[in-house]
Parts: sequence; structure tokens; C-alpha cells
Amino acid sequence: MNPRYIRNFCIIAHIDHGKSTLADRLLEYTGTISPREMKDQLLDDMDLERERGITIKAKAVRLSYDSRDGQTYELNLIDTPGHVDFSYEVSRSLSACEGAILVIDAAQGIQAQTLANVYMAMDQGLELIPVVNKIDLPGAEPERIVEEIETTLGYPASEVLLISAKEGLGIEEVLEAVVERVPAPGGDGVSPLRALIFDSKYDSYKGVIAYVRIFEGSVAKGQVLKLMSNGTDFEVLEVTMFEPSPTPVPGLGVGEVGGIATGLKDVSRCRVGDTLTDNSSPADVPLPGYRSLKPMVFAGLYPIDTKDHAFLKDGLDKLTLNDASLSYEPEESVALGPGFRCGFLGLLHMEIVQERLEREYGLDLITTSPSVAYRVNLHNGDTRFVESPSGLPAAGDISDIEEPWLDLIIIAPDRYIGAVMELVKEHRGKYTKMEYLTSGPGDGAGAGQGRVSMEFQMPLAELLVDFYDRLKSRTQGYASLDYTVSGYKVAPLVKLDVLVNGQPVDALSLIVHSDQAQRRGRALVQSLRSLIPRQMFDVPIQAAVGSRVIARETIKAMRKNVLAKCYGGDVTRKRKLLEKQAAGKKRMKRVGNVEIPQEAFMVILKLGK
Ligand code: GDP
Ligand code: MG
Repeated sequence: MNPRYIRNFCIIAHIDHGKSTLADRLLEYTGTISPREMKDQLLDDMDLERERGITIKAKAVRLSYDSRDGQTYELNLIDTPGHVDFSYEVSRSLSACEGAILVIDAAQGIQAQTLANVYMAMDQGLELIPVVNKIDLPGAEPERIVEEIETTLGYPASEVLLISAKEGLGIEEVLEAVVERVPAPGGDGVSPLRALIFDSKYDSYKGVIAYVRIFEGSVAKGQVLKLMSNGTDFEVLEVTMFEPSPTPVPGLGVGEVGGIATGLKDVSRCRVGDTLTDNSSPADVPLPGYRSLKPMVFAGLYPIDTKDHAFLKDGLDKLTLNDASLSYEPEESVALGPGFRCGFLGLLHMEIVQERLEREYGLDLITTSPSVAYRVNLHNGDTRFVESPSGLPAAGDISDIEEPWLDLIIIAPDRYIGAVMELVKEHRGKYTKMEYLTSGPGDGAGAGQGRVSMEFQMPLAELLVDFYDRLKSRTQGYASLDYTVSGYKVAPLVKLDVLVNGQPVDALSLIVHSDQAQRRGRALVQSLRSLIPRQMFDVPIQAAVGSRVIARETIKAMRKNVLAKCYGGDVTRKRKLLEKQAAGKKRMKRVGNVEIPQEAFMVILKLGK
């Protein structure tokens, strides 16, 4: 196809603003798929995605569109993942496009994720087409939303399209705008191949399928290609376009989008953001922007039934075939037995992995409370990434510890400014800026009140401790939140140990900010006191930083035999009590000479707050 008649674009939106529904309508309108074949939200084909209504893995579809000027265009719709955890993948799929349709809900207006996506799209130099969706809703206020778009994003009202994806209103105008406003791809077809990988998945017959956008040169079946980041080479087994099911084609030309079957068995060698080139006449430099993804959030995954350990390993093996950003290694916990320490991109990624393991592999799992990856600088000049308290080097060797920070956007009605500022401050956040989305504070006209976008910097670890739930409850559900990881900063972090009867319990150690050590330590020993049953002797429970005890509780010794009451009396009651105690014994873990019920560990490891 002549690149003049190619348009590569994506749809960006805050969750639930109608991205998938609009994609469906575009597929339908262009006859890419007949109404009969149409399942709602066709692009989200993983069960879990359909249920949660989020797109986890980016996909691409080719639409053939006969425009009003009588020309046939090849429109490549690239479906980007919508959530912050996947922001690197979002940025890579955006850079495969020249333009983006920005969908905004006519009742809700601009939300945090809208802004975060707009910033990212602008960084990539994309042409944006603002679209107000759901104008059919009774609560729709298209004029107010158009004003927000004018004030906040700087697009004149005349460039904003008003549509209803659900009712199919304004769909042709959207397609015309894509043809007219999105630039045709540049690049030349005779230079050495440079193809950007914006997604990949594993196929058991054809190996890793790389979804690519050709920036220079071309690619054909049988050609030998090379990955520029690691030099891996392979022969192209098949080239496909997605209509939306994969259709074999002889090759892809400059500006085009499609799939390349690599035969590679390992998705971690073929990562999003890497550049493919020709092995015999390689390009000099890769396309910009590649970085290897490091998991940011870590948690232990344990089978509730230790017999399931092998199934869990098998499940993790299979998931990592398709998900290069998931990492795991074996871990042994005193309390929970053998399990795995897993690394995730963020909290949603973690939830999705846990849910897929439970659903697709029938496993019952315990997830321990999540923590972040710390960067530990040693006196000898080495740097180590530490994901769990037990991995921390000896205190004397540590020069300083850095933790990951976020750039945070929160959008809320202006009456909540104080509450949001307060909350972020409690979580060690710092204010950067604030802007009204419309021209001024609340105009008094009922629902059309002033909304503000506030920006902050905050440690990632603080987000993991219930931040989102608290934000929602303090703003009556009106706030939306988005963030990107901005880098590492030094912090006074310490290891908090828990000792039961003088014995440290590894599974309960935490890395915490020194200002919070006291509060967290006290909370921990208090809940342990209520969870551990009385023993025959006094049991001290202590929280300590190094050799300094910062909180202490004592479980008093049992005073009288619980069976004493039953003497000579009710025999069945006595028997029941003994049975109950025996059953309880099985689920006890021994720490030194103290029996701790497994439930106590579960409660604390799960909440960990
Ligand atoms: P996404 O999360 O951005 O992909 O949003 P979806 O396309 O999944 O839509 C979220 C919800 O909004 C679904 O229940 C849709 O049926 C509904 N929706 C999408 N477009 C419209 C519209 O134009 N009008 C109305 N009333 N509802 C819509
Ligand atoms: Mg969707």
C-alpha cells in the first residue's frame, strides 16, 4: 500500500469512557466485521479483560475505509492498554501511531487517566482528535466537556467531535477526521529495515509473534531478522495482518502494521520497545525509546495447600511465556511454607496475575502485602536492588537506600482540594501544581462545578498502603488518579524486625520509613497479641529496629486449665474441645517454643498495614 493512504492511530481514554465500544463501531462501520460476527468489545478477547473492561494487551486491526473523497485507505487501529501499570507498553504502542482519538465521557469529563494519556501522546508528537462520547446519556453535558477540552487541552470547540459509540452516532465523522487529520506515515521503503515491536505474544506452534510497525524498509516471509537490543536472530516464519483475525500476507511495507512469527521460544528475548532489523544489512541505530522493564512491586505468592506448589510453578512458567514483565523466584516462608517471590509492574498487574492463576489453574493463593524494589548503595560502591527485607545487606555495609517515586495526577471537584492535599501529605507526597479544568472555580450552576487537576510527587510505597481507597472515600468517589514512576530518591529507611519470645520472625520483617517505624511497629505487635493464643508462660512480642526495641506487648500466661470447667460434667463438650484443640495444633507454626496459628500469619502478611 502506498504510505500516503495509510493511517496508523489508536484510541485513548480514561477507563469506561467508551474506547472498546468505539473500536467495535469502527470495525462494524468499515465492514471489517459483519454485525453477525460482532461480539461486543471484540478487541478485548481475554475473558478477564472482558469482565474487567480493561484492555491488558495491545492489539492491532486493519480497517479498509472508502472515504468521502472516493479513496480507499488502510487504517491501522492499535489498541493500547489503558492502565498505568502498563504505561511503558502504552507509550510504545502510541509511538507506533501518528494520531490518536481521545475519547472523553460526556457526563464525566476529563479524568486523571485522560490527562496522563494526553501527556504521553503529546510526548510522542501524535495528532489528537478529541471526541466527546455518550452524548445520548440523560446526564450528558457536552458543552461543559467541550469547554474543559478548550481550557485544559487547548483544542477549539470546532475540532471536537460529539458522538455516541453505543448508538452509532457520528462514527463516519470520526473516520473522516482520522483520514484528514492524522498524518500519513513517513520513512522510506529502501533503507535497511527498522520495525518497532509494540507488543508480543506466545503461540505454541509459531513461537513468539511480534506485533510490529515498519518505520523503514520492508519485511517478507523467509527473511532473516535480528533484534537490535540483544542480537538474537531468526527466520520470519510468517507475516500476518489482523482483520481482525490474523491473515497471512507476503510481507509488510513501510508504514504498515502487522505480526511476525519468529519461532522464538522465549518472549523475554523479544520485548516490547525493541527494534527488528535485517540480519544481513542491519540498520545503524535502533528506533528510540527502548528500555527493559523492571518490576516495581513485589509480593509473595503461596498456595494455601502446600501440595499445590508444583501447579503454582507450572502456572507462573506459562504466564511468563506471554508476559515478559512478570518475574518470580522460589521463596520459603516459616509461616506459609514454600512459595514464590513475584515481581509486578504495579498493583493491577499483581491482581491480574493472581486472578489468572486462581481461575485458569484452579489454585487457592495467599498474596503477602506488596512492597517496592529498593535501590541499596553500599560503602564499597556497589548497588543492589532489594525486594524483600531479608535481602537487605548488613546495616554497616549500607551507604544509603533509595526508593521509587511517582509523578501523580489527581482530578477532583474543587471542594476536595483540602482533603486531597492533606491525604497526599500524610503519605509523604509533595505538591507540584494545580489547575482548574474550566476557566474558573465553581460557577454555582449545580453539577457544572469547578474541577481541578492537582499534581504531586509521592513514594510508590505509599501508594501500596491503601492510598486509592482512602482517596476515594475522602472525595466521595469523585477523584480519579493516575501516575508514572519518575525515578529513585534517597530516604531514611530502616528494617523493622518482629521478635516473638526473643526470636525474630523473618516473615514479619518490613522495610519502613524511619518516621513510621514506631507506628507500624506498635500496630504489628498489637495485632499479634490479639492473634496469638496464650501459652503456658508469658510471651513478649517486640518490634525492633536494629537492637533498639520500639514497641512491646506481652501475652500473659494461661491462668487456668480450660478443661477444668468441664470436670465431671458434660463429656461431649469436653471431647469436642479436645478435638478442636487437636485440629488447631495442625495449623500451628512453631517459632522458638511458641505455637503461632497459621491464621495469625495470614492476617498480618495479607494486611501488613
Ligand atoms: P472502555 O473502558 O473505555 O473500553 O469503555 P467501554 O467501551 O467498555 O464502555 C464502558 C461502558 O460505557 C459500557 O457499559 C458501554 O456500553 C458504555 N458506553 C460506551 N459508549 C457509550 C455511549 O455512547 N453511550 C452510552 N450510553 N453508553 C456507552
Ligand atoms: Mg475497553
